[in-house]
Amino acid sequence: MDLPNLTEVRRPTSRSQLGLSAAVVPLAGGTWLYSEPQPHLTGLVDLTALGWSPWEARPDGGLSIAATCTIAQLVAIPASAARRATPLVRQSAESLLQSFKVWNTATVGGNIATALAAGALIGLGGALDAELVVWTPDGGERRQRVADFVLGERRTTALPGEVIRSIEVAPGPLDAVTAFRRIALTPLGRAGTVLAARRDPDGAVVLCVTGGTTRPEVLRFAAPPTADLLRAAVERIGTWFTDAHGAADWRRAMTLRLAEEIRQELAA
Ligand SMILES: Cc1cc2nc3c(=O)[nH]c(=O)nc-3n(C[C@H](O)[C@H](O)[C@H](O)COP(=O)(O)OP(=O)(O)OC[C@H]3O[C@@H](n4cnc5c(N)ncnc54)[C@H](O)[C@@H]3O)c2cc1C
Repeated sequence: MDLPNLTEVRRPTSRSQLGLSAAVVPLAGGTWLYSEPQPHLTGLVDLTALGWSPWEARPDGGLSIAATCTIAQLVAIPASAARRATPLVRQSAESLLQSFKVWNTATVGGNIATALAAGALIGLGGALDAELVVWTPDGGERRQRVADFVLGERRTTALPGEVIRSIEVAPGPLDAVTAFRRIALTPLGRAGTVLAARRDPDGAVVLCVTGGTTRPEVLRFAAPPTADLLRAAVERIGTWFTDAHGAADWRRAMTLRLAEEIRQELAA
């Protein structure tokens, strides 16, 4: 897709050269930006020129994933760093409906910033309580959980000039047992609902529902929930939506069924 209103595409080598605004926005993999018209944009700033390391093991045992880490680089993080969350990382990445090109160029930050309901890495971040480090235009930074950053379909808390620098995962969630379910109307269809969950060593359970809801819905339980408790929590979700990839009532029903499967799996 040509973007005829662009007058500049810059490749900064330092933060001070970012110069972002409402009309001059970050370019990461470009897989979404170049997939549809962007009449409101006059410039792109290619974050990949900043040369961020795709990921780093933190001194505390956590994981710092650069916003520019591609999906291919994400799934290549060794199990020594991603530990017990390793299968959830791959399952979430594979739930993104994509081509070989998207796999190798789409970035974690771009997926979260795009804030699609089917945002595969939003569910991963929600289940792991990952926190975004967001650079603010005044030279500072703010931190916010992925699940709180995404407000709705194509809506986030990001203000003009802000850029996601990294996605931080604390060591605790990396040591949790995880489970994942996804369903679509067709074998290669966009997700109807996606469930990513973890059970911490102390028994606490976190379940993040995306795909069928307009925003990530995070359900928390201090101890493994009973079937009734879990069902009641899923039934309280009020953000189901209908589109070509599924009706709201079907998405809700499938989520109830898959959540119960996850409950039993995590209890085993
Ligand atoms: C064939 C195809 C299939 C797809 N399937 C899915 C799917 O199943 N699920 C899904 O969620 N998405 C899907 N997408 C869209 C998906 O969001 C993007 O493909 C990808 O994840 C976006 O990452 P990117 O690095 O290419 O972002 P870009 O296209 O470069 O940018 C996307 C948006 O994020 C902003 N942005 C990028 N990086 C940052 C940053 N660090 N800080 C702040 N803002 C930033 C950009 O300014 C832009 O607004 C699909 C796209 C294609 C082409």
